[in-house]
Amino acid sequence: LLHNALVELRGNLRVHCRIRPLLPLDNEPGDAVSQSSAVSAEVVRAVDDETVLVKCNRPGHPSINKTYNFDRVYGPAESQSVVFGDVCPLLTSLLDGYNVCVMAYGQTGSGKSYTMLGPHSKGGESHSDMGIVPRAVEELFRLISENPPSPEVEVSVVEVYNNDIVDLLAKDSPAVTSGAKREVTAAGDARKEAAPPTCKAVGSASELLRLVRGGLQHRARLPTLVHEDSSRSHLIVTVTVTTALGPDSADPPTGAGRKSSVCGPARPPRPPEPAGRAEQACATLQLVDLAGSECAGVSGATGPALRETSWINRSLAALADVLGALSEHRGHVPYRNSRLTHLLQDSLGGDAKFLVLLCVSPSQKHVAQTLQGLGFGTRAR
Ligand code: ADP
Repeated sequence: LLHNALVELRGNLRVHCRIRPLLPLDNEPGDAVSQSSAVSAEVVRAVDDETVLVKCNRPGHPSINKTYNFDRVYGPAESQSVVFGDVCPLLTSLLDGYNVCVMAYGQTGSGKSYTMLGPHSKGGESHSDMGIVPRAVEELFRLISENPPSPEVEVSVVEVYNNDIVDLLAKDSPAVTSGAKREVTAAGDARKEAAPPTCKAVGSASELLRLVRGGLQHRARLPTLVHEDSSRSHLIVTVTVTTALGPDSADPPTGAGRKSSVCGPARPPRPPEPAGRAEQACATLQLVDLAGSECAGVSGATGPALRETSWINRSLAALADVLGALSEHRGHVPYRNSRLTHLLQDSLGGDAKFLVLLCVSPSQKHVAQTLQGLGFGTRAR
């Protein structure tokens, strides 16, 4: 309760920054493959729990010596469980009726998928490697089992690819092979109302995670020069929790639904409730693994990949605009400028709790993109 009160006090938007460890992919062409050369290229450090330092002196480049502050900073040695520990209280908020969103932002290879889902493996990862999605789902069902009566839980899994929404739980969701050109049918206009995505009712964490894993098989992938298995789409897992309200229940928080019967984003207007039927409160948890934030020049993209990159950049710019409008308390928040912000509308603004996990590489090679990401994260606060 105390923790929830503190979260409330500090506002509904928090930005945490995670610096991943140095990896072989951080070596510049011509680098000696020795450990010492990799360590000398580490230019981004956690100074303390809330401060990131970028210090870089490269011959022929302007020197950089800059600090950035966040609500929390995780250094390369911080475990998945420590990162999840700061997400955990949000699940209590979800069951209290608040909409919640946890989103990973950063360039390709910065650790977004690792943070949200866990390492790329064929399912054999250890429990300690598990990312936020499986941990959050397990914790949610644990909390539910401790507080009967159990609410209804539903899940949808969508990706936003080139500003089109692909329903990854639909039976006819197209499978994509690595490097293949993606064909999507929906028109890319955020102002057009998209059909609500498939929502499946689930009774356990394992059932929910099985659906998410199935959906992930269909996620668009196109190799770029940055990271050979990079994801070029935004992934949104939406978990909706619907609780029956007693006659004396308090109103749900702003932005969370009352009397909802449809889960997930892009809800149609709700029909009036039949007389005598119990009211329901519904709150959503959105877990988002964004596509890489790098620009075309860095990723070496051409052709279809360039088109992808330009849509990714447009949707991330729309996200930055929405966060800017919210932080400046502007009357008009431009949610409908992109599919991404439209889908996240219920999680952005109102009483919704929104956590951005800004993922960055520690290496000199990625410093330009890291500075861009740190700038985004600082503006979002
Ligand atoms: P992104 O999703 O941002 O493209 P990934 O999550 O795929 O990046 O991370 C790139 C690589 O770095 C992967 O091999 C991943 O396992 C590894 N990695 C990322 N973060 C960490 C971390 N905190 N600890 C260990 N390995 C990590």
